Amino acid sequence: MIPYLRSQELFEAAQKVLVGGVDSPVRAFRQVEGSPLFVRSGSGPYLHTEDDLSYVDYVLSWGALLLGHANPRVVAAIVEAARLGTSFGAPTAAETQLAQRVQHFFPSMQKLRFVNSGTEACMSVIRLARGVTGRPLLVKFEGCYHGHSDSLLVSAGSGGLTLGCPDSAGVTAEVAAQTLVVPYNDIDAIQETFFRYGHRIAGVIVEPVCGNMGVVLPRPDFLPVLRRLCTTYGSVLIFDEVMTGFRVHPGGAQALYGVHPDLTCLGKVVGGGLPCAAYGGSADMMGMVAPEGPVYQAGTLSGNPVAMAAGLAMMETLEVDFESALLYTNRLCHGITELIVSHGIPAQVVQCGTMFSVFFSREAIYSLAEVQVSDLRCFKHYFWVMLKAGVYVAPSQFEANFVSAVHDQSTLDQTLRAVDYAFGEVKSCLL
Ligand SMILES: *Cc1c(COP(=O)(O)O)cnc(C)c1O
Repeated sequence: MIPYLRSQELFEAAQKVLVGGVDSPVRAFRQVEGSPLFVRSGSGPYLHTEDDLSYVDYVLSWGALLLGHANPRVVAAIVEAARLGTSFGAPTAAETQLAQRVQHFFPSMQKLRFVNSGTEACMSVIRLARGVTGRPLLVKFEGCYHGHSDSLLVSAGSGGLTLGCPDSAGVTAEVAAQTLVVPYNDIDAIQETFFRYGHRIAGVIVEPVCGNMGVVLPRPDFLPVLRRLCTTYGSVLIFDEVMTGFRVHPGGAQALYGVHPDLTCLGKVVGGGLPCAAYGGSADMMGMVAPEGPVYQAGTLSGNPVAMAAGLAMMETLEVDFESALLYTNRLCHGITELIVSHGIPAQVVQCGTMFSVFFSREAIYSLAEVQVSDLRCFKHYFWVMLKAGVYVAPSQFEANFVSAVHDQSTLDQTLRAVDYAFGEVKSCLL
């Protein structure tokens, strides 16, 4: 533990003034039972910590950094925008430009609204679904995370799952009762739910590829069934593509699978590493949002000019950058799978586009229950050995890992050597 002395000192100081020493729970390293590394800077695929150590980074600000850290073009755009003023609370041309770029990749977002976080986008979109339909109920899936607003913090993934508190204190039973929870990929259960409550269901919100219990793919008929049920019952289908947008395909899961939602949430990548998110959909539905319509939603810093500039700079060569990131992810996942086989350890890689998880389980994984049979002891061991070998992977079994357009071959080689070493160690812990 000595190599992380400075980070430990900083963590102790942080805990005196910040709750748990962090501003978002998963950063606290609770699942891997250690104290977090404090970051000083990032460059390309690397994180540099306060302990003067460098790591290949597969967290990438939880997916936001498709171009890696401190991309020169993005940084230059941020500096230029900041020089002109950091916030006006009045419209700027950059908001229209970024909206046009987003729409190019997500044509289902005929109109959109920028907000500051994925949480805000998801919270706003369910208010809109209820406003549009005049119905109360919301359907979500076990293990999907849609930010921390009350109605969505029911059986949620990510940090809640990592900390073993899937439901939050402070969410009233009345609010929770308006959210129906169905197992991910469970066609019978969703059909049954619509059969019983369909005419009271305002909307279904889903991560079209789930990333917040680790990466879990939709079964081939899952998304089409959701589309069909929502259309039949007049409910709103919401794809929460905060993580999958620009990550599984430049046009998100909706482009990858050809299933089109009524409303979409974006976040993470869309702001080029600055706080920014968006929601949008058909012009009719979005026309219900203030000032055009009666569904209220506002934000002092929304459409922030610095965030818009970062998003625009990030998107300049998005198709090419996505292809590079995808190529590197494919190579990495292929390499890890080969090492799983050669070491004979009970693990598997689940990948979609530029995101992936290594699950310490041999069972096919399509739901939260199946994710939860993973061996957390092996994961913990793997995590710390990877760190020792200079690779920073997500500090929880229940999170996705991300690859950028600058995780080049030498970075991948370094990573695969670390994985080889880590699997060897994990194997000895299994015996
Ligand atoms: C990260 C995430 C959110 C929440 O976004 P924040 O910016 O952290 O509020 C919502 N939905 C999904 C699918 C996410 O991955």
